Amino acid sequence: METQTAKILDGKALAATIQQELATTIAELQPKIGRPPGLAVLMVGDNPASAAYVKNKEKAGAKVGIASFGQHFPTQTSQTVLEEVIAELNQDEQVDGILVQLPLPKHLDAISLLHKIAPDKDADGLHPINLGKLVRGETGLRSCTPAGVMRLLEEYKIPLVGKQAVVVGRSILVGKPMALMLLEADATVTIAHSRTQDLKTITQNADILIAAAGIPGLITAQMVKPGAVVIDVGINRVTDSSGKSRLIGDIDFAATASVAEYITPVPGGIGPMTVAMLLQNTVSSYLQTTRN
Ligand code: NAD
Repeated sequence: METQTAKILDGKALAATIQQELATTIAELQPKIGRPPGLAVLMVGDNPASAAYVKNKEKAGAKVGIASFGQHFPTQTSQTVLEEVIAELNQDEQVDGILVQLPLPKHLDAISLLHKIAPDKDADGLHPINLGKLVRGETGLRSCTPAGVMRLLEEYKIPLVGKQAVVVGRSILVGKPMALMLLEADATVTIAHSRTQDLKTITQNADILIAAAGIPGLITAQMVKPGAVVIDVGINRVTDSSGKSRLIGDIDFAATASVAEYITPVPGGIGPMTVAMLLQNTVSSYLQTTRN
């Protein structure tokens, strides 16, 4: 059995600190603004993983003083109904953040719904305007998961300038914005994906390795450069031989923790940071209302 020498990047603890700070900011500003920040998480259907994520987001929001305007729709809800709800929320002055929980049932077009969210209420940072601002290096609402990774790296003062960063995954939700944020921080960035050949040779060069493929155990200790900083974005539910289910990431944590210098756990790493960034985006839109 390997000895764990890597230090843990504790996303759970940092998320708790950020949420405490947000709670203080909200408590101070609410009397001046005359209302709490509002977040509308829209969920369609009954995907159990999505339901758990939504509950988590709303619970964390309530804890810091964010009012919930969340709605839960039956699976058969039409695109038109959802577009109308988003249009109303865009106009609602009590609402600062809107997010559509993905994935959506097959008959719905997620991209077109995301386009309907007002960019300044786009708490998930997935609207083309906000993604475009990220490409251009302009201030805007940033996608929560990669923003959470950057915040965690910053907290532990991990140097990024000139470092080799490898992102495994190229989704709009995680991989692509992650690569852009690392690039913005002056890392030298490589994106690996499902068609990448010889993944191991690429990951072995990474000073900073971010796994976001959604494949349990994809990254083994042999694929990691000694002393690397390893971030596991993957969340995979697996069932062990005794029938017990648990969450694991894309990285073989036990073995990799004897090679890497820093590593994130799953759960307790990037998951809580994602929620903290969602709340932060909502509060940052709320703060804009005081400047108008
Ligand atoms: P996705 O399925 O949209 O994208 C997966 C990416 O992995 C694709 O770009 C694909 O090209 C790449 N990929 C697939 N097989 C590969 C392989 N063998 N080698 C290299 N690359 C490969 O998933 P996503 O939405 O980007 O999410 C990725 C993972 O992160 C999932 O496990 C998801 O649950 C998790 N996630 C976690 C959080 C969080 O809060 N921690 C947030 C979002 C997603």
